[in-house]
Amino acid sequence: MSGVSVTKGAEDAAPAPGGDLVVLSNVNKHFGALHVLQDIDLTIARGEVVVVIGPSGSGKSTLCRTINRLETIDSGAISIDGKPLPEEGKELARLRADVGMVFQSFNLFAHKTVLENVTLGQLKVRKADKKAAEDKARSLLDRVGVGTQADKYPSQLSGGQQQRVAIARALAMDPKVMLFDEPTSALDPEMINEVLEVMQQLAREGMTMVVVTHEMGFARSAANRVVFMADGKIVEEATPDQFFSNPRSDRAKDFLSKIL
Ligand code: ADP
Ligand code: MG
Repeated sequence: MSGVSVTKGAEDAAPAPGGDLVVLSNVNKHFGALHVLQDIDLTIARGEVVVVIGPSGSGKSTLCRTINRLETIDSGAISIDGKPLPEEGKELARLRADVGMVFQSFNLFAHKTVLENVTLGQLKVRKADKKAAEDKARSLLDRVGVGTQADKYPSQLSGGQQQRVAIARALAMDPKVMLFDEPTSALDPEMINEVLEVMQQLAREGMTMVVVTHEMGFARSAANRVVFMADGKIVEEATPDQFFSNPRSDRAKDFLSKIL
């Protein structure tokens, strides 16, 4: 890295709406020789919307994946709602259900209908009964604007519709926190807003969210805090206003000059 001064500024961020929900303490992770996450300290309050931005390869996806333990960590600690991340087994399945994840590539089950996609986790992990799971799925599908698509298969839907189904599927587990990893990056431009609007709505309703995105309009309007990552480190944290009008690190200035 160039001589960037590390200017973390969590003290400048918007006040925590309701206590700590996700806490990463001194998290380190390597892929072979690559030190992909370096001394990451990040606390996400209940109801907070944190937007993570940064250059490609900076570790944003890996960071998200450690939070629901799709990736292990080498050192440090992660806790959710006061409990350390479990290693494996039933506890881990429960944790994953508490942490909803929406990926760039919608990852719906291709051979299941939209409705089945949204009931499956409820039936298997939450042990819901079928009628209750279907009622909940239909209401969530309505909420994200795809209620009329319930009996179709994912391939019959547009990308924007599929991503909204993926959001409904994650919400069906009553997650404590939702992670979004570039949820609109694979979408045609005209479909980006319909997905961002659903995310805006969730944010307004108080969902705790970690969102990796290049959609700076979303960051400005929905985020309580922007976390800027580069080279495996959190280089800067600030409110969106502060970050976009007055980035402190050279790395962030350089990044913003390229994307804005
Ligand atoms: P970002 O999401 O910010 O683009 P990633 O977290 O995907 O960054 O990746 C960070 C770095 O780790 C990149 O250099 C990437 O090539 C590397 N990386 C990611 N996943 C793996 C993996 N499973 N094995 C080896 N290297 C990986
Ligand atoms: Mg990524």
